[in-house]
Amino acid sequence: MSEQIDPILKKEVERRRTFGIISHPDAGKTTLTEKLLLYGGAIQMAGTVKSRKANRHATSDWMAMEQERGISVTTSVMKFNYKDYEVNLLDTPGHQDFSEDTYRVLTAVDSALMVIDCAKGVEVQTKKLMEVCRMRDTPIITFINKMDREGVDPFDLLQDIEDTLHIECAPLSWPIGMGADFKGTYNIHKGELHLFSAIHGGAIQKGEIIKDLSSSRLDELLGDQADQLRDELELLEGAGYPFDKERYLAGKQTPVFFGSAINNFGVQEMLDSFVELAPHPRPRATTTREVSPFESDFSAVAFKIQANMDPAHRDRIAFVRICSGQFKRGMKVRHHRIGKEVQIANATIFMAQDRTGVEEAWPGDIIGIHNHGTIKIGDTFTSTKEELKFTGIPNFAPEHFRRVILRNPLKSKQLNKGLHQLAEEGAVQLFKPLGNNDNILGAVGLLQFDVIMSRLKDEYSVDALYEPVEYHTARWICSDDAKQIDGIKKRYPRFVALDGDGNLTFLAPSQWRLQQAEEEWPKIDFNKTREHE
Ligand code: GDP
Repeated sequence: MSEQIDPILKKEVERRRTFGIISHPDAGKTTLTEKLLLYGGAIQMAGTVKSRKANRHATSDWMAMEQERGISVTTSVMKFNYKDYEVNLLDTPGHQDFSEDTYRVLTAVDSALMVIDCAKGVEVQTKKLMEVCRMRDTPIITFINKMDREGVDPFDLLQDIEDTLHIECAPLSWPIGMGADFKGTYNIHKGELHLFSAIHGGAIQKGEIIKDLSSSRLDELLGDQADQLRDELELLEGAGYPFDKERYLAGKQTPVFFGSAINNFGVQEMLDSFVELAPHPRPRATTTREVSPFESDFSAVAFKIQANMDPAHRDRIAFVRICSGQFKRGMKVRHHRIGKEVQIANATIFMAQDRTGVEEAWPGDIIGIHNHGTIKIGDTFTSTKEELKFTGIPNFAPEHFRRVILRNPLKSKQLNKGLHQLAEEGAVQLFKPLGNNDNILGAVGLLQFDVIMSRLKDEYSVDALYEPVEYHTARWICSDDAKQIDGIKKRYPRFVALDGDGNLTFLAPSQWRLQQAEEEWPKIDFNKTREHE
């Protein structure tokens, strides 16, 4: 690593923000994304992101299945500029049937934005995604949305977040009223009051700003709500956590903003604070050392693989996050797992609506590399020969399981090949119980099973079905004590399986059985995640 930081690299790193949005379906992620892109000048009109949901086959190459169901199987990357910042927004599927990709994307971001519906508080999916963020102590900013509707009292919402997600809340904005009485927000961070008038069109509107809370103009505009606001802010001073940037960056505290995405209430003030507070690309761990984004040698890691336009040719796009140095088109890099030099001539950079060829890119940027199945999730690329392997892009324990049934027994070789390759690509996890010949699929989202069946048919000409199985949860098992491993294998040949990479897994039929096994074999580690090899 060179001692001196290249000033251009430094500037490019420091102005980048790479983040993802975590939320439960319907909280308003799509609406908020659209507004962020609007402020970033990436789109001119609201409605664009929505229509992408319904009509994306026109402009992109996502799978036919996705078009049919009109929901997002995949995760895309949106890049926009805001002020002097280059923002990379990594979108995660909004549908209930999210997939492992949703989780993996969160391993490629430097921070997250959590959207919460003010009427519903913290919901299941938010909780799950938060757990993934916690693995890397990802800093999280919270946006409490839909304040134009009657919701839970703001103080109770903060309590809910603190109790359910175990994170301190530091409100940086405060709502003035709620539902029909919602007038805007007081920006605690900047000490300014923003008043807005509701507009649904999506154009950016600047409301009146009042700096002095004791001003009589406040009473003129807000009537009784002026005193209510003053009271609440006073109460907050005693009850809330003061904002502490270190605690935010350590993932222990979340700055909270209130607003209404659809009405543009509070979105811009959240975005202003977001670019200011959210971390620039952070150092990333490898098996040997931490790599700083300011190192001039290029390094990058693949965190997601996407089946491309022409599945028959096994055409794939690997989503690769740049971790250090500068990327230049045509550069030669070392592809570590296979130990080869490769030239990256046709990388794509993802813009809000289009993909364009990329000439250069910097840490925090995501580039798409076309390949024919040579790139696997977790693969590392570098411009030097140093042996590096980025960590932190794990397999996540599946939450749903299905057994694959082949319709035409003569195709079993094809089926095995297809399942093996799809598992390798990270589209699903494959398990083979020690005691039988079953092919068990595991996924964190139910939709993944349909995707696999459809891809088996299209790409491998295999007609297969899936059926329910008894498994409930999975843990990767390992131990220094071979006797204990032998014990569990003998006792539960149906529950102990090999995953796609040959690692031992315990497929438990219930939480209770898992607990029992953990008690019975105390020297075995039961792990919820496993690093890609
Ligand atoms: P997603 O599933 O999280 O992407 O949620 P969407 O952005 O699709 O929003 C879900 C629904 O909530 C849509 O009908 C939106 O129009 C609506 N919505 C989004 N933001 C607001 C808001 O600030 N106020 C109100 N009243 N509705 C909103």
